[in-house]
Amino acid sequence: SANSALNLNQDDFLYHFGLSRTSVDLEKIFGDTKFVCCGGSPTRFEHYANEFSKDSGLPLSANLSRSDRFVIYKTGPVLWINHGMGAPSLSIMMVETLKLIHYARATDVTFIRLGTSGGVGVAPGSVVVTNAPVNGELNEEHVQWIAGKKVVREARLDKRLQQDLIAMGEELSLPVVSGKTLCADDFYEGQMRLDGYFCDYTSTDKFAFLRQLHEMGVRNIEMESTCFSSFTARAGIPAAIVCVTLLNRMDGDQVTLTKEEYLDFETRPFKLVSAFIKQQLSI
Ligand code: URA
Repeated sequence: SANSALNLNQDDFLYHFGLSRTSVDLEKIFGDTKFVCCGGSPTRFEHYANEFSKDSGLPLSANLSRSDRFVIYKTGPVLWINHGMGAPSLSIMMVETLKLIHYARATDVTFIRLGTSGGVGVAPGSVVVTNAPVNGELNEEHVQWIAGKKVVREARLDKRLQQDLIAMGEELSLPVVSGKTLCADDFYEGQMRLDGYFCDYTSTDKFAFLRQLHEMGVRNIEMESTCFSSFTARAGIPAAIVCVTLLNRMDGDQVTLTKEEYLDFETRPFKLVSAFIKQQLSI
């Protein structure tokens, strides 16, 4: 549950959004929020917000963030916020977004992460709906270091939301897969790539690890899932993760998609999630 000190504060500056409680009327602007859609790239999230506005007829806000760290777009009750790469960046965006919706008194909010990932034994372009995120120790947990101690928290996602998203993906004939997601803290060695600047393991080690992942049900690798799942679970917010795979790591390490392929792939999580949100909002 939320920090009890929050309500005592007269003002509070959400530093990485450049927004404070007294400089803007958070309740007026954000009070009707029902969905927070997030993912790494600021330009992709501007594009998603734009497309959703065109699709749904809901008006698109300007970028409501006043800092250059994150963008925030709003289309009716749906927020589009980027979170950068990896858990440290994501955790800042999550804390400030949770404070934002708390101060705005928004209720019944759902969070969905729409991302890109590396596939494990699935074709490039597959859309993985995460059924369980696992961290670098292969546990369904998020690890935080607080006061010199390892604090371990459960990383859990909403089952019902997963089922509904998979059903929507199938209805749209998208190549949707349910699987575990490995949350790595690094793109190169942390994901057993052979093409990083450093590499102290062999190709045999890489494939042994990928096979181990596949056998335990992992279908993709990204860098945010356990942090995202533990923060939302801890806040009591239903959440889901929908990521497209840019490559099959069984076939290589480099992302060498053409611009057209990339654009097609990155719209797949959006197609699925936007259709789901429109269904939920009856628009
Ligand atoms: N994001 C990742 O973290 N890994 C990939 O292989 C692709 C996208």
